[in-house]
Amino acid sequence: MIKIKSPEEIELIRESALIVSKTLGMLAKVIQPGITTLKLDQLAEEFIYDQGAEPGFLGLYDFPNTLCVSPNEQVVHGIPNDTPLIEGDILSVDCGALKNGFYGDHAYTFEVGEVDPEVKKLLEVTKASLYLGIAQFRQNNRIGDLGHTIQSYTESFGYGVVRELVGHGLGREMHESPEIPNYGRKGRGKKFVNGMVIAIEPMTNQGTKNIKQLKDGWTIKTADGKPSAHFEHNVALIDGKPQLLSTFEYIYEALEIISEEENPFRKISVKS
Ligand code: MG
Ligand code: MG
Repeated sequence: MIKIKSPEEIELIRESALIVSKTLGMLAKVIQPGITTLKLDQLAEEFIYDQGAEPGFLGLYDFPNTLCVSPNEQVVHGIPNDTPLIEGDILSVDCGALKNGFYGDHAYTFEVGEVDPEVKKLLEVTKASLYLGIAQFRQNNRIGDLGHTIQSYTESFGYGVVRELVGHGLGREMHESPEIPNYGRKGRGKKFVNGMVIAIEPMTNQGTKNIKQLKDGWTIKTADGKPSAHFEHNVALIDGKPQLLSTFEYIYEALEIISEEENPFRKISVKS
């Protein structure tokens, strides 16, 4: 069953989502060659508690850490460890926070030092596909419209769209109905209605769409060992249109990146 959220509930989800946004912004400053993902995990855990929230992933389905950290050929659900990052790595960081009974959950793939231009392209395309997907989250559009848009854009670059892992509804539970696949057919699936809150999260492989799970029972990697990217936002459907509850602004501030990609989906502030 899809749980429609009240405006008050949406504001609480926004609060949790923004704690994740700030956590990712804090991490953006320290993701450099030499740092370990375990250190990033410790920093994130402290930071989230300091904001009066709890780490959303820690203990969820028995996951052992605060962050999912997935370098290079890892797609998602990587477990932090003491291997230092090296120049040219990419690192997908997925983070959750729980406050006032509501979850925030989003992800960004970071570049570690100077990254190969072909890998940079993979990150650019995956992030662009996320915003194309968000634009499809409109009243009376369907889940298949969103998935189709992400899939057709991504595949036009020859990349693989992961099938086994999908976006989801978000609220009092980290994973609520409905599933939001990054593939699909136009006009198919449930209709979007006002008050829905979802996590849209394309997972894009440079090569094959196929994945494998490591023996740790968590880490998902590409079947061919080529790199994979993951970008995720939390979005509410308000007045028929998508509104971002999460933001990459804190990351961009840390990395001195100028971007207008979020402008069409921001909360409209009333002039006082
Ligand atoms: Mg996530
Ligand atoms: Mg998610």
